[in-house]
Amino acid sequence: MKTFNTINETKKYLNPFHKKGQSIGFIPTMGALHEGHLTLIRKSKAANDLTVCSIFVNPIQFNNKEDLATYPRNLVSDSKLLSENGCDVLFAPEVQELYPESEPQTMDVDFGDLAKVMEGKFRPGHFNGVAIVVKKLFDIVNPTRSYFGKKDYQQIAIIRHMVDVLNIPIEIVKCETTRETDGLAMSSRNLRLTVGERKTAPWIHQVLLKVKEKSGTLPVGQLKEWAIKKIQEESSLKVEYFEIAEKESLMPVENWQQNGNAVALTAVFLGDVRLIDNIELF
Ligand code: AMP
Repeated sequence: MKTFNTINETKKYLNPFHKKGQSIGFIPTMGALHEGHLTLIRKSKAANDLTVCSIFVNPIQFNNKEDLATYPRNLVSDSKLLSENGCDVLFAPEVQELYPESEPQTMDVDFGDLAKVMEGKFRPGHFNGVAIVVKKLFDIVNPTRSYFGKKDYQQIAIIRHMVDVLNIPIEIVKCETTRETDGLAMSSRNLRLTVGERKTAPWIHQVLLKVKEKSGTLPVGQLKEWAIKKIQEESSLKVEYFEIAEKESLMPVENWQQNGNAVALTAVFLGDVRLIDNIELF
């Protein structure tokens, strides 16, 4: 596996592959890699001539300084995992490389309500930061396809919207959430859970499974209230939001007749660790 820290080296290395028309699969990550990330790498390997992964903890998508400071960073072990899983190129720039300018970064895409609900509402500026960095990375790697996990469901909608509006010719591939055997969605933030918290965390997925079973039988509003109460039966879990939304637009679903094409999404604090998860209902 080739590893590059600069934009120039990365572009220079990829240029001949572009010229020959070879397909490039790209997986942007923030590192602290786990099986969820590696599944995306393997999916890309199976469908492309070359697989590129980036590791960059993007400061401008963190609206909480503490979360940025405590975000796990393991570049040496990440690099080993990537090469063991057949990744061809790792791009791991420093902050200065992607943001050399001191002025604030801007994004010319209006995400409308999509960036105002759920993660957008509770993490102001988060999606703007995500879109800016993904656009920069797309410009550097210029991939054929880019792979994103459904664990960050709203993020995929944001990226798809950006690609549509800017006419970027990259296929956005939606990948299933990889889970621990007890159902907990794999996440780099799980590393910050205490042993006790780690035992409680799978309850979120268990409640989501029950919500899927009950969907269509209870009015949407009642089901959301039920879910919040059920999650918080574990007293260390505090629900920030629990929403039932239309799969593509992510606008809230008011009743099942109006839209049966729904997904339930939640953000839950466990101690000071914020976990997100979701389940497609139909
Ligand atoms: P992150 O490093 O958290 O920014 O994630 C990088 C990519 O991996 C994003 O597209 C995530 O949605 C995806 N990802 C993270 N966790 C999982 C998971 N458990 N299953 C599938 N994809 C995931």
